[in-house]
Amino acid sequence: MSGFREAVIDLGAVFANVAHLKSVIGTPHLMAVVKANAYGHGAVPVARTALAAGADWLGVADIDEALELRAAGIDAPLLAWLHDPDADFGAALARNVDLGVSSARQLRQITDAAAALSVVAGVQIKLETGLNRNGVHEPDWAEVFALAAEFERAGLLTVTGIFSHLSNASAADDAEAIERFERGLSLAAAAGLTPTLIHLASTAAALRVPAARYTMVRVGIGMYGLSPFDDQTPRDLGLTPAMTLRGRVAAVRRVAAGAGVSYDYLWRAPVDGFLALVPLGYADGVPRQASGTARVTVGAATHPIVGRIAMDQFVVSVGDEAVEVGDPVVLFGDPEAGVPGATEWAEAAGTINYEIVTRIGHRVPRTYLNPDPADTPPASTQPATPPAATPRAADRTAR
Ligand SMILES: *Cc1c(COP(=O)(O)O)cnc(C)c1O
Repeated sequence: MSGFREAVIDLGAVFANVAHLKSVIGTPHLMAVVKANAYGHGAVPVARTALAAGADWLGVADIDEALELRAAGIDAPLLAWLHDPDADFGAALARNVDLGVSSARQLRQITDAAAALSVVAGVQIKLETGLNRNGVHEPDWAEVFALAAEFERAGLLTVTGIFSHLSNASAADDAEAIERFERGLSLAAAAGLTPTLIHLASTAAALRVPAARYTMVRVGIGMYGLSPFDDQTPRDLGLTPAMTLRGRVAAVRRVAAGAGVSYDYLWRAPVDGFLALVPLGYADGVPRQASGTARVTVGAATHPIVGRIAMDQFVVSVGDEAVEVGDPVVLFGDPEAGVPGATEWAEAAGTINYEIVTRIGHRVPRTYLNPDPADTPPASTQPATPPAATPRAADRTAR
């Protein structure tokens, strides 16, 4: 089944990871973060699997990402939190997408869009608690809460959540952010807001900082079976990596000692031996920075990449091993299966495992293992129209 280039996504692993995280974290709600095409794994199949495994919210950065999920017939509660200054909030509200709000300006824009459509906007107010990215800055909290409460009383919106995001810089920094978040929650309550979704933790804090769990956590990396920690492997956390990046040997040649390999002859063969050509390169997300440092599994053994990783291909030194054209190559997958992990690649390239899986390119087809048949209806049975927006004054608190 091995393709020329392919990313095999084990949806059974995604399912098990979500179910495991839900049981160890134990919050009433769990948001599966499927932004950036589900960290390269495929937003729609991952979202369906996460929901089947017990996630009850989906999270994305952009409204466009949210609309893509709706267009695929996914009607679960969904939050988008990073907006263009001229974002089409109406398109999101018409498809019942909750919107993260980071300013009074956004709150007014969203309310205007809700009024124009005669729907109730679901908004979740994002508080700045230390990261200094988006989120309402503390001096503006009172103003934004008062405005939100006023719009809520007018039936234009419901504040379904209040949230923020941690830096993971240190335990002390996270504790300080939690304190600031608590001040925000008190002020929101004093303004008359009663959101049910209080969320601060992504995977790392969800696992290590119980005080940050509140009523919902937002899990990304853990759901994909990778560890956010330097000192714990996926297996230590009870997780299984979902993505295996693989290919097939495209050419084999024997070279004599002294032969140069790939651009700039960064590497010359120290002794006679075989080289295998693998048809993946930086166009496919294989980091060029890992030239000469990463390893891949060819057949049953793991060998070093030698010379520069190019746009479409790289070379592996296999020594005297009898490798043939067409032999399977695994760049990374589950280390428990004896292949390099995405985390090993991250170390080789000087980055984090998040970036390794997320950057796998468009040219690499995704193949899915273990889809839940009950959860992947044929296209004809999917709703032709997106879920209806909540009519004004309807009760949105049930979820
Ligand atoms: C990406 C993201 C997450 C998920 O983080 P992980 O570390 O992958 O669990 C959670 N919350 C926000 C706001 C994010 O941008």
